[in-house]
Amino acid sequence: MDLTRQAARKRWEEFLPKVTAYGRVRNHVVAGHSNVSLLSGALRFRTILEDEVVAETLGAHSFEAAEKWLQEVCWRRYWKGWLEQRPQVWSQWRNRVRTLEAELQGRILERARRVMAGESGVDCMDRIARELLESGYLHNHARMWWASFWIHGEQLPWELGADFFFRHLLDADPASNTLSWRWVAGVQTPGKTYIVRLSNLEKYGSDYLKLGDRGAERLADENVRACVVEDRLDTRPRPLPEYPEEFREEPGRTGLWLHPDDLTPEIGALRGAKPAALSACVCEKVCREHFGLSPGRMQSVRTVLRDGVDRASAHYGCMGEVIEAVDPVAEMVGWAQRNRLDAVVGFAPMVGPTGDLVSRLDRELGAVGVALRLVRRASDAEAFSMASAGFFPFWQRMRQRLMERQ
Ligand SMILES: Cc1cc2nc3c(=O)[nH]c(=O)nc-3n(C[C@H](O)[C@H](O)[C@H](O)COP(=O)(O)OP(=O)(O)OC[C@H]3O[C@@H](n4cnc5c(N)ncnc54)[C@H](O)[C@@H]3O)c2cc1C
Repeated sequence: MDLTRQAARKRWEEFLPKVTAYGRVRNHVVAGHSNVSLLSGALRFRTILEDEVVAETLGAHSFEAAEKWLQEVCWRRYWKGWLEQRPQVWSQWRNRVRTLEAELQGRILERARRVMAGESGVDCMDRIARELLESGYLHNHARMWWASFWIHGEQLPWELGADFFFRHLLDADPASNTLSWRWVAGVQTPGKTYIVRLSNLEKYGSDYLKLGDRGAERLADENVRACVVEDRLDTRPRPLPEYPEEFREEPGRTGLWLHPDDLTPEIGALRGAKPAALSACVCEKVCREHFGLSPGRMQSVRTVLRDGVDRASAHYGCMGEVIEAVDPVAEMVGWAQRNRLDAVVGFAPMVGPTGDLVSRLDRELGAVGVALRLVRRASDAEAFSMASAGFFPFWQRMRQRLMERQ
């Protein structure tokens, strides 16, 4: 899947006329996934922006005709905002993955490995696992079925299933992935658990079923039951971090930091910045050893960073580099010093691997006299402030705002 901005814009322009049919067809998984946009990777790295997609949807269609589509695009921002208010959910999930890998009985880990490899013995679920391993993408329904099979069918810990997705999905997102897994497990929205059923697969995913399949009886409606999952994570909200929404040029030399949470600085508050240098860092060691990312996923991160840096270089008229780092914070500090910068500016990373770097980066840049100045898109600040509780109160308010914009 090509996640560059040019490819994403092309895909979006082709999909725009189809958004009015989206609500009717989106749940049906068909070959080539033509019922859905396949924009998730580009939206995750922001080589295309939700703001563009929403504005162009409202420019081309009435709100009512495109409501289901707009709602799904806004789910992503809702999850992001929910997690921004609970950064501990991300760090506790990462810790749980490490603990489970170290402490679970060998036979359970071996079973988990076989299910991930597409060797569970339930052929339709194994086709989904292999599709993920081979393509780095799954339709939403396939993600729900497989996650439910993992949690409620195989009774494996959701945290390890979420880690498997995080390592292989090209659109892997700290918020959408972790919180969707929690939702399937029944811990994100108390009282709501998602159960995979054969009748649902027959209706929406018949391509995954073949005559004479092994194991399908395990998914027969009468055989599947929700298992009770204990919520071990602290989900109490904290105040949202505050960032300015405007960028004001200050005297001195500025460098622009590009990172995987937002790769379109030429649109929005940073458009008018005048950086003397710009860079993005990719850290193979952290990606491989700490997160265990698949080679396809590593490649996609490199591709989007290169794409973001090339576009930004052209927009700002200055040299840009993608730095291969062992320690991304140390590299950024070195880059700031080599370029004699007074300040590093960028979009505020969100909760996740890049967000984890911010406090150390701020401290170590500060120690060499370089200020870190982060801004937040106004549309993110607005959406995140509405995401403190469930999706439906969020959507009621977001819906109102979108209707007013038509
Ligand atoms: C267990 C599980 C794990 C998931 N992990 C991720 C993930 O790591 N990254 C990710 O982007 N999405 C994730 N999703 C949400 C959803 O499955 C994908 O966003 C969607 O399938 C991507 O395909 P698309 O771009 O063709 O979607 P479309 O149906 O075309 O939707 C358009 C856009 O809306 C957003 N969107 C749609 N549905 C959802 C949803 N349910 N939650 C959040 N955003 C949504 C995405 O940005 C998507 O690109 C997960 C869902 C489940 C059930």
